[in-house]
Amino acid sequence: MQNNTKNRAPQGIETVCVHAGVEPEPVTGAIMTPIFQTSTYVQSAPGEHKGYDYSRGGNPTRTSLEIALAALERAKHGISFASGLAAVHAVAQLLNPGDHVLVCDDVYGGTGRLFRRLFAKYGIDFEFADMRNASDLKSLMRPKTKLVWIETPTNPLLRIVDISAVAQIAKSAGALTVVDNTFASPVFQQPLALGADIVLHSTTKYIGGHSDLVGGALMLNDDSLAEQLRFIQFAGGAVNAPQECFILLRSIKTLALRMQRHHENACAVAEALSRMSSFSEVIFPGLESHPQAALARAQMSGYAGMVSVRMNGSFEDVKKFLSRLQVFSLAESLGGVESLVNHPETMTHASVPPDHRKKIGIDSNLLRFSVGIETAQDLIDDLKAAAG
Ligand SMILES: *Cc1c(COP(=O)(O)O)cnc(C)c1O
Repeated sequence: MQNNTKNRAPQGIETVCVHAGVEPEPVTGAIMTPIFQTSTYVQSAPGEHKGYDYSRGGNPTRTSLEIALAALERAKHGISFASGLAAVHAVAQLLNPGDHVLVCDDVYGGTGRLFRRLFAKYGIDFEFADMRNASDLKSLMRPKTKLVWIETPTNPLLRIVDISAVAQIAKSAGALTVVDNTFASPVFQQPLALGADIVLHSTTKYIGGHSDLVGGALMLNDDSLAEQLRFIQFAGGAVNAPQECFILLRSIKTLALRMQRHHENACAVAEALSRMSSFSEVIFPGLESHPQAALARAQMSGYAGMVSVRMNGSFEDVKKFLSRLQVFSLAESLGGVESLVNHPETMTHASVPPDHRKKIGIDSNLLRFSVGIETAQDLIDDLKAAAG
């Protein structure tokens, strides 16, 4: 049945996930947006085309994905990138020499590397700060501060940053707030509603959810900022391919469902780990022992699947534990349906300068789990058996 009066915008996140960005394809009625595997588009006369002229500038499969991505964060604009770091790169290209940027100090390793190794040489001053106490930031703001970069929960220490307090401080100093929302997912945390200007995702993680692609996204409301970022992407070329966009569109349909299970399993795993004697500390925002549990509860509606622990014993003991795991796989990355374990010091955070790692507490006893959507008891049994 033709429905020309879709004037009731869906509100529930599950409905948004299933329907966002996808309209029946007009020629055939196909319910899924096809993979428009094309680089160029035929024009009826010079400069006369149907909205697409070259796929670096735009592709219908990517357009559908971008509408869906915007809807997930209840944003006006969504821009899809070739990777999470391509999205970070695009935001960094808004900056000019002499600008100052405040970055939370246990930011994703690749983001820190991009700032330190690629952008610092252009005379941009990146200052890494502990943002757990938002009011400390006031004294760090400078007239040249253009961006405040937040990740929350942070990786791998799962610290929580008060998005609304930081955004308020940034705004009154004339700086933009960027929130890397990869760990929480749009299902559990909505930074734009808390005052942030730009939300970033590595869609490689929860949004993709199946460890089968690399992608990134920016979501925002401001029209002129969106136009600048689209120009940066068009000029720089960091777009993702149509097939990747299609896989992401499919993944988004189950995002809310998957996140609910990630959350439930992580809660069960964190509880179980805290009762095991092999771990001196279990770090999970949903545990009452987390020093910022109240803040997490206030700004998140679930805790996703990331759990970190400090293991007792030597690095040899840690390696023995890792080698005994059978359901959890030792791998970088996170957010897929399968459970993974990562050793930040030697894997994801190896590029973080050693003195900085030491300062924030990433040592050889720290492990980070990405809890998948398997049967919770199987995950718990695996951890118990490996810990011995
Ligand atoms: C993985 C990740 C990124 C980088 O994304 P890629 O898709 O690997 O380029 C950025 N931020 C966070 C929090 C991540 O986990």
